[in-house]
Amino acid sequence: MRHPRAHVWKAAAATAGGGVALAGLRTATGRSVRSVPTLAAAGAGIAAGGLMAYEWLTPRSWLYGPVFWHAKTGERVVALTFDDGPCHPYTGQLLEILDREAIRATFFQVGNNVIREPNLAAEVASQHEVGNHTFTHPHLTWSRPGTVREELLRGQEAIHEATGTLPQLFRVPHGWYGPQVISVAGELGMKCVGWSVMAWDWDRPPSDVIQSRILHGVGPGGVTLLHDGQDTDAFPKADRSHTVAAVSEIIGSLKANGYGFLTLPELMDLHAAG
Ligand SMILES: [Zn+2]
Repeated sequence: MRHPRAHVWKAAAATAGGGVALAGLRTATGRSVRSVPTLAAAGAGIAAGGLMAYEWLTPRSWLYGPVFWHAKTGERVVALTFDDGPCHPYTGQLLEILDREAIRATFFQVGNNVIREPNLAAEVASQHEVGNHTFTHPHLTWSRPGTVREELLRGQEAIHEATGTLPQLFRVPHGWYGPQVISVAGELGMKCVGWSVMAWDWDRPPSDVIQSRILHGVGPGGVTLLHDGQDTDAFPKADRSHTVAAVSEIIGSLKANGYGFLTLPELMDLHAAG
């Protein structure tokens, strides 16, 4: 199974890590790096820093703890996941499609959006699995543990207040975990989740592009990532019409290819049993 964004992350992480390594060298020596041996050392630093940053940031990181992103299985099953909701009218439209197709999915809700749409959040939770996607949808990669804890706890409170359920899954906003994010989520009783295929649908490409990106990347045990909302925005600023239009087609194609649909906890159970 391919991961379309991985090479982008590697490049970005190498750049970020190199910057950190160079800054560190400058600080340590008190002057800029110029001599050949020092540059060679800087190169090694960039390589090591790049690897470290990549492993820190990737949603599949093995370095700091388990982030579930797919099930090792030959069975034709996938978990559909939707982030950034609830968001009227798109979340309701998705619920109708999923209900018609008799599929249960997993929704990672943003606390702020749950407070704006508590009834919609409750409707989602009554039929589907709900995970925590923080309260304000921030970048947490470099945040202090206290900040991470507050975002996760406020998300839990909002979701629990509206739906009566307390999520046991967490997905970091923007996809970049740090070790402190994984450990805080664990302390709060949540497992961290990534994905195996997504469609850059936050950029609102045409629905046929969203559809083909998902269908090309998906495989047995896969986790798809699509969006029913946009950060903490509401309609009309948030526009997920292209995603909603793609979902029916994605489900139809997957069913035609013999795929079944599981919630994330069901997929995690299958993985654990395998
Ligand atoms: Zn998100």
